[in-house]
Amino acid sequence: MKILIINSGSSSIKFQLMDMPSEKLICSGLVERIGYKNATINYKANGENLEQTHNIESHKQGLKRVVELLLDPEIGVITHTNEIEVVGHRVVHGGNSFSDTTLITSEVKEKIQEYAALAPLHNPGNLEGILVAEEIFPLAKQVVVFDTAFHQTIPAKAKRYAIPTSLYEEHGIQVYGFHGTSHQYVSEKAIAYLGKENSKIITIHLGNGCSMTAVLDGKSIDHSLGFTPSNGLIMGTRSGDIDHAIIFHLVNNLDYTLDDVKTLLTNQSGMLGLTGHMDLRDIQVEAENGNKDCQLALTMNAYRIKKYIGSYAAAMNGLDAIVFTAGIGENSSVIRQLVCEDLEVFGIHLDNTKNEKRSGDLREINADASKVKILVIPTNEELEIAKQAFELVN
Ligand code: ADP
Repeated sequence: MKILIINSGSSSIKFQLMDMPSEKLICSGLVERIGYKNATINYKANGENLEQTHNIESHKQGLKRVVELLLDPEIGVITHTNEIEVVGHRVVHGGNSFSDTTLITSEVKEKIQEYAALAPLHNPGNLEGILVAEEIFPLAKQVVVFDTAFHQTIPAKAKRYAIPTSLYEEHGIQVYGFHGTSHQYVSEKAIAYLGKENSKIITIHLGNGCSMTAVLDGKSIDHSLGFTPSNGLIMGTRSGDIDHAIIFHLVNNLDYTLDDVKTLLTNQSGMLGLTGHMDLRDIQVEAENGNKDCQLALTMNAYRIKKYIGSYAAAMNGLDAIVFTAGIGENSSVIRQLVCEDLEVFGIHLDNTKNEKRSGDLREINADASKVKILVIPTNEELEIAKQAFELVN
């Protein structure tokens, strides 16, 4: 069965065509800068890598161009759109309404629209992708996988904020959690690797957005992002945890508007705010060359992760494994080393040689004597969506 996975953002569409259940990747690609002058399309199939620049005004135009590529007599991989039996969509915010993968109905679309108020950067683009895919693939089953779904198991003591109960009951202000498909995918891999259903695992997703999840017996029981994807760890451009009174100070005493504060904390803070760079590779190079701001930013970044490791080990009363994943987690031996040093109290001992080795597969990088396994597991959100969509329709 051919399943097309669509991850549609505000100005981009990531796609993968997969054969299930063999999990074979048939083709993949990315349309970027939709609505801007020079939109780019990247398409990979049969070992070929094609890069094109087009004027793409809308998601509809973008997805149509993708379909033309899929059908292309030379570089295409299908002969008719009807060959695609299922389209799996990633949607960031499913609020409290969805704990499972769901077939798309008009009620589901209404809910996605409703939750756009809570994820204004993500849900509208996600919904647009669904509407366009329904038009282009009218015979395919459309399935949605929510980033928030994996975190529906977080208990009240961790998901509630200590603010008046009415705000939770009437306005849904609580921890929702994000990156759910990634945390679910790597935690399932870790559980299979440990061969232990009853396990205490901390998954650490470090990409442009960063988050950590405490996974107890396969279920998310706590998570570092909150009501929106802004809490917790230091990210590329987001501050993560700060004292909220800083916001009042900026507005009351430093002439910031609320919009300025939002831009500051979302787009100008995190590693970018500390160093002037948001790409960790640049920061690592600068730090090595003696840049003090970059050295401090790396240390702060790792220190924040350490604090969450401590609190989640306490929340689960133990720890079997920590898992590093996503762009930084999979590639930055520097961050992994800074995170793992001086954590012997929890039974965490890194093997520095193993940490430096590169590989695209699951690997164990702890010292033999380490009580806690330290794993690097490449994430694959698209495959997780394909697996869940396949299960739902079969
Ligand atoms: P997204 O959240 O957009 O999916 P990714 O998971 O692709 O993000 O992660 C992007 C981050 O990964 C960037 O900060 C980038 O600097 C970092 N990264 C990618 N490769 C490396 C590397 N070899 N060493 C250190 N950091 C890396």
